[in-house]
Amino acid sequence: MFSNLSTPTADPLLGMMQQFRDDPSADKVDLGIGIYKDGQGNAPVLATVKQAESFLVENQKSKAYVSSAGNEDYNRLTRELIFGANSGLLARSQAIQTPGGTGALRVAGDFAHSVKPGAKVFLPDPTWPNHPSLLAAAGLQVVRYPYYDVASGKLQFDRMIEALRAAGPGDLVLFHGCCHNPGGADPSLAQWAEIAELLASTGATPLIDLAYLGFGDGLAEDAAGVRLLAERLPEMLIASSYSKNFALYRERVGALTLVAKDEATASRAHGHLLPVVRTNYSMPPDHGASVVAHILGNVALRTTWEGEVAEMRGRINGMREKLVAALAGRTTRDFGFLGVQRGMFAMLGITPADAERMKVEHHVHITSSGRVNVAGLNDSNVGHVANAIVAVCG
Ligand code: PMP
Repeated sequence: MFSNLSTPTADPLLGMMQQFRDDPSADKVDLGIGIYKDGQGNAPVLATVKQAESFLVENQKSKAYVSSAGNEDYNRLTRELIFGANSGLLARSQAIQTPGGTGALRVAGDFAHSVKPGAKVFLPDPTWPNHPSLLAAAGLQVVRYPYYDVASGKLQFDRMIEALRAAGPGDLVLFHGCCHNPGGADPSLAQWAEIAELLASTGATPLIDLAYLGFGDGLAEDAAGVRLLAERLPEMLIASSYSKNFALYRERVGALTLVAKDEATASRAHGHLLPVVRTNYSMPPDHGASVVAHILGNVALRTTWEGEVAEMRGRINGMREKLVAALAGRTTRDFGFLGVQRGMFAMLGITPADAERMKVEHHVHITSSGRVNVAGLNDSNVGHVANAIVAVCG
């Protein structure tokens, strides 16, 4: 079975991590790997997470199986966080706990394929590189739609709307709920309204990838587009992740939420998600979700966590401004767009060869697509990074 296998292509992410470790320069900067780092360049465990973990160690009474849907408190709190605690959407939605946002996307893909084998999934161009392969592996037919023009730093809204007319009932259309990865550009509320109108007319189901809630303008602000779509459409799926906003990356904490036209339909659809899970990983891992449920369900811890998210968001947006200021007037391209975009990522609009020069000549490690993790910037390295961009982009 194994002997005739070809040599697999290395995972670019792992290769990037290794190259950074191997770079002997004292000035090296990692803007490649997509994790949030604090002002000192560390990715620490949040204080609220430490507290919740201590609580669980002391108080958790059993490690017995829970269910394919996972922790019910967590599922309810997740829906309340996305839609708002008093939202009417709570009545016609259901959620299941999943292993990270990735797990939620895969369950969504498997589910869509089980309802309509070979259904299409429309993905923004560009998008998170795992989207196409993951959803194709679920059996869906991947179609790309124009979303963001890297050269101009702008959404291609009209072209996107035009392309999405081809998505019909049973098909999925994936949107990043906020803080688009890698573009950093999101639709305005007026544009979300136009998207809702289009989807209402075609009958396609939106699949929202919500991996950076709270990293843009605020927890409620970042959910505004998702809430608008859910209010105006009979159906949607949301693959959300707590990897970033709780810094729980390796614990694998996510959720798949569905919104249906009414409570009974939501409950029926939820029943169809469960066998998808059961025949894959059976049940989600508990620890990270219990941590999140404990924090979101405790008034004091939740308030502290909201402060932690605000601090991460403030640092990211502050570094965006500092990078723009450090580049101002020094390049032919106006990088002002970096300051108005949101989230951890930005596209410099450079070639893979120039991305390589950033790494080899300046020890600034970014992805070959020219994507920069803004959350890897800090006061000590932003000047060096700006100099590298000026040197490479001219
Ligand atoms: N969607 C997007 C857009 C992401 O950037 C990521 C993580 N890089 C994910 C989903 C997956 O998140 P998780 O680690 O929770 O699986």
